[in-house]
Amino acid sequence: MNKTTFVLILFALLFSPLSRVYVQENKKPLWPNLANELWKINKGSYNKWPPNSAGEYFGSTAYTYEEYEDFWRHFLAQTPQITWGIRSYVSYALYYWFSPEARKNSSAGSCIPALEMIENFTEKGPAEMSRILLEHHKQDLQNFDLYFYLVSSCVRAAAENQNIHLRNVVVPRLRALVKKHDFLSPVAQNDKKKFPLLNTYRSAIYNIMAEAERENPELAKELGFPAPHENIWRKYRVIISDNNGLMPRAFEIIDGIFHHIPTDMHQLRLITVLEYLDDYRGTYAPYRMINIFKKNEGIHTENGFLKDVPPHHSDQFAIVVVHEINHNVDASWIDSQKQLSDKKKEIIKRAGRRSANYIRDLGDGFFENSPQEFFASISNIYFANTIRTLDLGQERCRKGFRTAMEHALFFVEVYSRGGDAAPTFVLDEHGTLTRGKDLKLKRNKDGDIVEVQAPNKKFFFTWSHGKLATCMSL
Ligand SMILES: [Zn+2]
Repeated sequence: MNKTTFVLILFALLFSPLSRVYVQENKKPLWPNLANELWKINKGSYNKWPPNSAGEYFGSTAYTYEEYEDFWRHFLAQTPQITWGIRSYVSYALYYWFSPEARKNSSAGSCIPALEMIENFTEKGPAEMSRILLEHHKQDLQNFDLYFYLVSSCVRAAAENQNIHLRNVVVPRLRALVKKHDFLSPVAQNDKKKFPLLNTYRSAIYNIMAEAERENPELAKELGFPAPHENIWRKYRVIISDNNGLMPRAFEIIDGIFHHIPTDMHQLRLITVLEYLDDYRGTYAPYRMINIFKKNEGIHTENGFLKDVPPHHSDQFAIVVVHEINHNVDASWIDSQKQLSDKKKEIIKRAGRRSANYIRDLGDGFFENSPQEFFASISNIYFANTIRTLDLGQERCRKGFRTAMEHALFFVEVYSRGGDAAPTFVLDEHGTLTRGKDLKLKRNKDGDIVEVQAPNKKFFFTWSHGKLATCMSL
């Protein structure tokens, strides 16, 4: 080698991106070092905190977006069997642990590579896709769950004003994907027996689109959704994924319910009807989605009231929709406000194991073991018949079960949004939800509700140290 060649090679090395990794910053490249760490994480066998040695990379701010993108492209393509361990670890490492600066590039860099995995997979066509999805499902592999998680999380981060450029890349590519493949079209009725999990896969794609394009009222129209689906999107920014299985009446019922729930109280983006999809629960569980049952709307009715008051029968399909939406109100509205969320925990704790202390009877210990069912359960009766819910609370209170009334009042409190009025509803046997005259509320200096004026009666309450002391109605 002559001197000139040597100098040229030296310069080439010094100014190549690779040399910057090794020479200037003296950091280990992500590939394959980080991949080796991730591959060590076997199913469920890692400690969540402290993170394993993969944390040395994810916790560092030394890596650029491009380096992470390159890493993820290699890692996803070369990890054919992603276990729950990796799936779970990655979600913590990219979105919870470490500083926002460290997470910024590791998470954003995963977005396009994960999208590419989805795009490449979709090219295989329905038969091969179903075969692979089913195989993965049987082996409990988490590949697609991870790909969808990475893209949807990155799109959510974009919506929260980071990485806006990524959203601008992801949105047209997802649209192109849906336009290119007929089986991804919203009007395609894919045979769920012949192509298991294909409809669920399509729902996962819609979920990302709903998140990415929630500001766009025209999305459903532009994609060619049927009119009832389009209507729900335009009004509430929720996609209904039912493989065209729901009856038109079901959409009227859903519309009627959403109409009475302020859109800022939930963050729903997707409603699936698994019976029309594949009934593989928990598969690619996307964010901000609920599942409803088909239940032949307008045929079955349900009375959720305890025997202390006369029954009120409502359409069961509608009750399920109300219940599931209120799960989301619970998670996104209540749990984001410390005061409400603390209050909820406190009143469950106070009621304890005994089912008689609750305004719904689902057996001893039920709400203690499943506190996530508490609020949604009360919605079953509050939306069925609000005044009767208060009557029931009053009746239970009179019999010595004061906490039951606390539960009813908590629901009033949530839907009052801290104000001096709360809505009243009646849900009939055909699924029609009617809003009545508002409850008028009076509070004490601590904010506890001391008077509820309903159209034909008044309820009065006294409180002692934040606990309901007396109930009376006139
Ligand atoms: Zn529930």
